[in-house]
Amino acid sequence: MNKNIFEKIRDGEEKADIVYKDDYITAFKDIDPNAPVHILIIPNKKIESLNDIQEEDSSYLSNILLGAKKIAKQFNIDQSGYRLITNCGSDGGQEVQYLHFHLVGGLKLGKMISLSKSEKKKFNELKSLQNK
Ligand code: 5GP
Repeated sequence: MNKNIFEKIRDGEEKADIVYKDDYITAFKDIDPNAPVHILIIPNKKIESLNDIQEEDSSYLSNILLGAKKIAKQFNIDQSGYRLITNCGSDGGQEVQYLHFHLVGGLKLGKMISLSKSEKKKFNELKSLQNK
């Protein structure tokens, strides 16, 4: 089966700026960063998304969190703060079908969820209907 871009980066077949690697995870700089620090953390086992995690994947998942902490320290944002995000599926905005966590920091981050004006209007309308 064809490997996707993150599998190739994991296997060293595609260039990436790898900042951390151990038995469980690989972390590399996002090619199109949204913050001074924008690192992608993936499990070394191919899992497509959060929807696909299984009980037996728990070591990968805990090591992603432990890795995020180490990498935040490595980039000197552990004290200033940062955010760890995973996008799942179409509404979540997931573009690459390989579970990954965005570690972002190095500036004051905006609102956690930013909706377009039309989506926000739709959401508010729905909310007011539900409250009737
Ligand atoms: P998603 O939208 O799936 O949560 O995030 C995918 C992320 O992967 C995006 O932020 C995008 O910039 C990053 N990305 C896509 N292709 C590449 C690549 O070839 N190399 C690196 N380093 N990052 C990539």
